Amino acid sequence: MSTSVAVRVDQVETFLVDVPTIRPHRLSMHTMNSQTLVLVQIRCSDGTVGIGEGTTIGGLSYGEESPEGIKLTIDSYIAPAIIGQDASRVATLMAGVKRRVKGNRFAKCAVETALLDAHGKRLGVPVSELLGGRQHDALPVAWTLASGDTARDIAEAEQMLASRRHNIFKLKIGLRPWDVDVAHVAAIAKAVAGRASVRVDVNQAWSEPVARRAIPALEDAGVDLVEQPLSRDHRGAQARLAGRFTVPIMADEALHGLTEAFDIAAAGTADVFALKIAQAGGLFEAARMAAVAEAAGIGLYGGTMLEGGVGTAASAQVFSTLPHFVWGTELFGPLLLTEEILATPLRYGDFVLQVPTAPGIGVDLDMDRVAFFRRDGGAARVHPVHVSAGA
Ligand SMILES: [Mg+2]
Repeated sequence: MSTSVAVRVDQVETFLVDVPTIRPHRLSMHTMNSQTLVLVQIRCSDGTVGIGEGTTIGGLSYGEESPEGIKLTIDSYIAPAIIGQDASRVATLMAGVKRRVKGNRFAKCAVETALLDAHGKRLGVPVSELLGGRQHDALPVAWTLASGDTARDIAEAEQMLASRRHNIFKLKIGLRPWDVDVAHVAAIAKAVAGRASVRVDVNQAWSEPVARRAIPALEDAGVDLVEQPLSRDHRGAQARLAGRFTVPIMADEALHGLTEAFDIAAAGTADVFALKIAQAGGLFEAARMAAVAEAAGIGLYGGTMLEGGVGTAASAQVFSTLPHFVWGTELFGPLLLTEEILATPLRYGDFVLQVPTAPGIGVDLDMDRVAFFRRDGGAARVHPVHVSAGA
């Protein structure tokens, strides 16, 4: 049935942007030397333009969606589902997208972010106000030490402490034998003892027997949090770890959307959720997952897929509306990139990120810089499926 709507979604454009990282970022499954941002720009019939991001880590080595796949999903399946529809009804639009597209949470998150950004700009309010209003104006931000070199990581930590940018450090481990990793972590924890919180992220690299030996050693070293030690598939084993040790176990890769949040809470598989808008499938879903955590007494940590400024600003908007992030956030993605693609950079300092206050997600792209880093060379090609459905 054709209905007339006040404000239509007119055009959806996606582009891949490849930006170098400031140093190699070594994870158990992948070493990053650059990051590919998947950006979405949605134009509406009232002239508002919303931006979103659906970025992942290491192609397909981290999750089930690749940058190229996210772009294809949006171009071929999500854009046709929303073009010509009422742009002011974001929840209705996303419900329609959910009916037509299974899975593909990163792609959905990018589109939902752009729709919320446009709607916030339309109403002249930050996205946080569309989500119930903010409880925090600033969020603590961890930094990840992942050069793979102990001395270099300690020097980096000292520099972050001295400049008051970060006093929470997450160490990426799991690539080397566990005892080598533990020695690396212990040296860093000793160097910053009493001045910073040190956590580890194993990115699913361990087996249960290895974790049983490594975690007590990490506890002795003063580690505050152990993130995703086991494969996301080994839930029973991770529940055993969570019950066995004092140091909290955090679910990250295991946490795909609301159903898994509920399952993890019900099974006691984790003490803390790494809440990520991309893994959640959008800002609405992230807020629902936070509600599950609250009901289950699970702590919250604001996670990142190492998004650039757009995804980071969107995360900050929803995180600002949620109860206390006992474990802080890791919204440092833009700081890992050599290039700024926002018109005005996000504000970091005094160990926090200021939640942007401008309408929408509160940031704008510097389109000249984006054009420079676009994988397609900045050619402003618009696929036929993006063309306004008004035709
Ligand atoms: Mg993680």
